[in-house]
Amino acid sequence: MTDKFKDECGVVAVFGHPEASKLAYLGLHALQHRGQESAGIAASDNGRVAVYKAMGLVADIFNAEALARLPGTHAIGHTRYSTTGDSALLNAQPILVECNKGRIALAHNGNLVNAAELRARLETQGSIFQTTSDTEVIVHLVALSREVSLTQAVCDALRRIEGAFSLVMLTGDRVCAVRDPRGFRPLVMGRLAVPGRPDAVVFASETCAFDLIGAAAVRDVKPGEMVVVSRDGTESRHYAPALKPSSCIFEHVYFSRPDSVIFGRAVQDSRDALGRQLAREAAIDADIVVPVPDSGVTAAMGYAAESGLPFRLGLIRNHYIGRTFIEPEQAVRDFGVKLKLNPVRSVLAGKRVVLIDDSIVRGTTSRKIVRMVRDAGASEVHMRISCPPTISPCFYGVDTPSRRQLIAAEKNVEQIRQYIGADTLAYLSLEGLRNACGEGIETSYCTACYTGEYPTGFIPVDDIEPAIAKC
Ligand code: AMP
Repeated sequence: MTDKFKDECGVVAVFGHPEASKLAYLGLHALQHRGQESAGIAASDNGRVAVYKAMGLVADIFNAEALARLPGTHAIGHTRYSTTGDSALLNAQPILVECNKGRIALAHNGNLVNAAELRARLETQGSIFQTTSDTEVIVHLVALSREVSLTQAVCDALRRIEGAFSLVMLTGDRVCAVRDPRGFRPLVMGRLAVPGRPDAVVFASETCAFDLIGAAAVRDVKPGEMVVVSRDGTESRHYAPALKPSSCIFEHVYFSRPDSVIFGRAVQDSRDALGRQLAREAAIDADIVVPVPDSGVTAAMGYAAESGLPFRLGLIRNHYIGRTFIEPEQAVRDFGVKLKLNPVRSVLAGKRVVLIDDSIVRGTTSRKIVRMVRDAGASEVHMRISCPPTISPCFYGVDTPSRRQLIAAEKNVEQIRQYIGADTLAYLSLEGLRNACGEGIETSYCTACYTGEYPTGFIPVDDIEPAIAKC
C-alpha cells in the first residue's frame, strides 16, 4: 500500500527491432510499479550508444522528442525507486561508460551485498566512482578485468560480485542479459515477430512488459546464466555454476504485478492460493471479506472463496497520488492514509470484517486502516496477512526499513494485534506461503525477510542501513 519502502527496479531489453527504444519505453511503462523515481533508456544505432534518463515517471520523461534521440535497433531500459543513499539523477540508470573494452550501458535490478567492500578496494586501486549506486562497481570491475574481450570481462566481473542481480547490458552490436547464480530477482526472455526480419529478442523483469509490446515469453534467464544476443544469434553461457535457487518470495506476495508470470508461476495463482491457505489456517466467524487495495485484492478473493464469506470492496483506493500534498492546518486524523483509501460506510457499517493485506512492515498503515474501518461502523475487525511476520530486512533489493523499525522483529503477534487495534490478527505460516507459491523441485525461494536466514551467508548487522544506494 504505502510507497515509502519501495526500492525495487524494473529492467527491459530489446534486440533487433527498428523501434527498439519505443518498445523499451512501453516495457518500462508496464514495469512502472517496480520503481517510480527515475527512468532511462539506452539505445544503439550502428555501433553508437546513446542514453537518456531523468527523474520522474516513464510517461512524463519520454516524449516523442526524447525517443527520437534514441534511434537504433537495440535498446535497454530501467526504472527505479530508491529511498536509501542518494536518489538523485546521478544514480539513475542505465549507466553508460566508455572503457578500454568499449562502450557499454548497463541496467540492474537487485542489490549487491559485497558492493561496499569491492568499492573500497577499487578506490584504493585508483578507481573514481561517479555515483553512489552499487551497480557502478560492476562497470569498474569490467574495465579492470584482465580479459580482453568484453564478454569475457563481463563474466569475470560477474564472478566477483555477490548478491542479487538481474542485469541487462547493451553495446554497439549486442544485448546481454544476466541473472545471479541464486536467481533472486526475476528476468524473462521473449520473442517478438518483426515483419520481413528475424524475430526480435526481448528481456524484461516481468512478463507483463511482453504483453504490452506483443512479445511471447520464451523462458526465464537461468540463475548463473548470461544470454548474449548478437547478429549471429542467441548464445547462452554459464559464467558461474547455478547455486540453490533463492527466488524472492516477496515478488509473489507483493511486488510483481498479478498479471505476470515470474519464476515460472503466475503471480495471480500464487496470491489466490495465499488467500485460500490463509482461510484454512486462520478461519474466523465474520460477515464479509474486505481487501486492502490493491495489494490485498487477490488474496482476499482467495480467502473469500475458501471461507464462503462474501467478498466486498469496503475500501476504495485513489490512484492519483502525487508526491506532496498540502495538509489542512487543523490536522485531519490519518490524513496520509485517507489520501489513498476511503472506507465505504454502506459496506462496512455493522459488519464483522475480515480485512486482508499482504504484509505489515512498520504497522503504522494497518493501525490507521483498522481505525478507519471501525470509524466507518464495522462491529469487528479481523486482520489477516497473506505472509508470515516480516522480522528481517531484505538485502537483495526490496527496501525494508532496519530491523529496529520492523514491528514483528520487536513484538509478538498478540502485541502487534494490540498495536494495530484489531479484534484478532493472524499471519500465514511459512510452510503455507511456500506451498502457495509452488515451492518444489524446480523452485526454491529466499524467505530471509521471514526467517532471518540469508542465502548468501551475509550476516547483516542490526540497524545498519546499506551504505550505498540499492537498486
Ligand atoms: P506499514 O505501515 O509499514 O506496516 O506498511 C504496510 C503496507 O506497506 C502494506 O499495505 C504493504 O502492502 C506495503 N508494503 C510492504 N512492503 C512494501 C515495500 N517494500 N514497498 C512498498 N510498500 C510495501
